[in-house]
Amino acid sequence: MKILTNSNIIYGQIEKLIENSKEFLYLISPYIDFEIKNHDSYQKFINSINLAIQNKVEVNFISRLPDSRYKRNPEEILKPFIHKGCNLYLVPNLHSKIYCNESKVLITSLNMYLYSVINNEEVGVKVSKKNQPKEFENIRYYIEKLLSKSNNYKPKEKIEEVEKKLTEELTKGKGFCILCLKEISFNKFKPLCYDCYNEFKSFFPIHGKYCHKCGEKDYNTDQHYPLCYNCYRKLYY
Ligand SMILES: [Zn+2]
Ligand SMILES: [Zn+2]
Repeated sequence: MKILTNSNIIYGQIEKLIENSKEFLYLISPYIDFEIKNHDSYQKFINSINLAIQNKVEVNFISRLPDSRYKRNPEEILKPFIHKGCNLYLVPNLHSKIYCNESKVLITSLNMYLYSVINNEEVGVKVSKKNQPKEFENIRYYIEKLLSKSNNYKPKEKIEEVEKKLTEELTKGKGFCILCLKEISFNKFKPLCYDCYNEFKSFFPIHGKYCHKCGEKDYNTDQHYPLCYNCYRKLYY
């Protein structure tokens, strides 16, 4: 894990992460703007994204759904990339900034916004899959969560088929209460035992301590996302 405390270095690392991508890219930034008067250094950034597209890397942008606080439309700004086949997912109230390829992830305060690189104090942390596999997977899981909240995310299979298959898969066998680890029947939609549910139902959504499927410790679980990353992958892919 590496801490980065300089906007220009963070910016350079994002560029590198894009250049080194081989399979996929997630560029997550609520605010995106490549233009600034009398400045051309974002051109390099744009070139590196274009190179990734040429190399058949799957490029995914996740940005903020325009709202009363933020009216600029990322669709407009990213048009040239979308035309070349990049995906854009818009998530309401997005404030996270994450840049991720298949081997590295950078979590930072820096938007894909040149003004911030030049003017703002920014910080970031870089995690590599090789050295921190658990953390890396947790971040991937978080990105999946974000995607599922976007207004236009569709899994590759037809949505109804996936749902049907999942409902069957997600309600059979044995599982664990995500709060007290008591053995209960596995049901992705009811991951708590009767007692825990009744005790905590006012704390919506109820946060868990264990994976509902395998019972491993996992503090990222909650009522809606009751699975650890491994079980999630096994069930959904
Ligand atoms: Zn329980
Ligand atoms: Zn699990």
